[in-house]
Amino acid sequence: MAAAAAALSIIAAVLIWPFAKNPGPVIPAFLPIFATWVTVTEGLTALLLWTQYVVSGRLLFAALSGAYAFTGVIAAIQLLVFPGIFSPTGLLGAGPQTAIWIWVFWHGGFPALVTASLISRSVPSDLTHRGRGRAVVVGAVALAIALCVVATVGQSHLPPIVAKSGSYAQLSSSPAALIVEATCLAALGLHVSTTRLRSLMDLWLGVALLGALIDVTLTLSASARYSVGWYAARGASMMSSSAVLGMLIYETTGLYRRLSETHRRLVETSARDGLTGVFNRAYFDERFAQEFSLASASSQPLCVLLIDVDHFKQYNDTFGHLAGDECLKQVAGALASTLRRQSDFIARYGGEEFVVVLPACESEAGLRVGQSLRGAVEELAIPSASPSGGPVTVSIGLACTFPNQPESAQALLGMADAALYRAKSRGRNRVVDAAEIVDHKTAFRTAAGRERFSH
Ligand code: GH3
Ligand code: MG
Ligand code: MG
Repeated sequence: MAAAAAALSIIAAVLIWPFAKNPGPVIPAFLPIFATWVTVTEGLTALLLWTQYVVSGRLLFAALSGAYAFTGVIAAIQLLVFPGIFSPTGLLGAGPQTAIWIWVFWHGGFPALVTASLISRSVPSDLTHRGRGRAVVVGAVALAIALCVVATVGQSHLPPIVAKSGSYAQLSSSPAALIVEATCLAALGLHVSTTRLRSLMDLWLGVALLGALIDVTLTLSASARYSVGWYAARGASMMSSSAVLGMLIYETTGLYRRLSETHRRLVETSARDGLTGVFNRAYFDERFAQEFSLASASSQPLCVLLIDVDHFKQYNDTFGHLAGDECLKQVAGALASTLRRQSDFIARYGGEEFVVVLPACESEAGLRVGQSLRGAVEELAIPSASPSGGPVTVSIGLACTFPNQPESAQALLGMADAALYRAKSRGRNRVVDAAEIVDHKTAFRTAAGRERFSH
């Protein structure tokens, strides 16, 4: 895109060149529009470059921000002093030579400041001292104001370069023109040779400098305001002032995209257990509390299942911890793939313990899911180290908000833990519902208190 912009502006300049001196229509609204455009784009570019300086601590960004702030200020002042816009002769005590001298300072100053910024490239980044960068920008703005004071208050000391008719043919043959043209050319040459246009920033700054060079060349060859070349030069100037801004906006958009993608991935991984890939304990604690409140508020049942791998210490002792890790991964995978509903979730509770939460699920269905989970692990047929010689199995404790009616999420989890303990003591590889323990303890609902575990 930068190459296309550069090529197009060169081709347009070459095509317009022979007609540069032809008078064009006098459109009084054009100059205010142009100057406002340049002031706003240069000002925004200065602001964005300043934020880059604040974030990166690279003095280069402050120096470039200064160059753009210089141009923004000078373009705004030129709008005020230009004859025929706010008053016939221009504001701020402007004389007939003021606007043209401000043009000279502007178009010599910007490439000179960009060239001066080359020095700041070798300055190491420093995030602690903002003062340096501030001094650079304030210095550039002060320079712009000082030059405008020279062009207004001190205009009588400056050589006249514009005639009453609006023709500035004298300028084209003055040393000032030569200096401005040479500065633009040297700035572009030095920029390209020093930076080799390696970064996006350097590439678009190169386009901006090329635009400035075309602007100056066409302005000087046009020799009069409102001529074809003069209009074309203003067009090049607008392109020049927008090049870096466009790139910065494009970059910022890309940055937001990458940032939100990274953030999404970070949130995703921070909720996951590193070994098994299921949700981690922190995620469980937060989500379980939410689900419990939701279930209480809506009087919906909620089941929680605590799952513990049987004789896992022995497994580790026999096959080693690496094989133990592998076994845990497989167990987690089998458990996770058993869950069907979108709202169900599994997390690693700790060590070789997992927890499954089933929102809007009654204890009957919870028990069925528990059996599926238990069966899925058994079906993996991972050889175990247990004396019985069977495969690796799990014991599961189930607790549901109905009929248990726990007061808190912790109480519900405590019931599941007690049920798990019971499943272990009854010989492992089974599911026990907490409701039956309550039944036994209270001797209350004997009919419903039948044994509800698998084997
Ligand atoms: P039980 O049937 O009563 O649950 O017996 P168990 O041996 O499984 O119970 P215990 O709680 O004594 O042992 C759990 C073992 O799980 C101890 C620990 O070495 C192992 N373990 C916990 N986390 C990991 C892990 O991330 N990787 C591996 N390989 N082993 C783990
Ligand atoms: Mg355990
Ligand atoms: Mg265990």
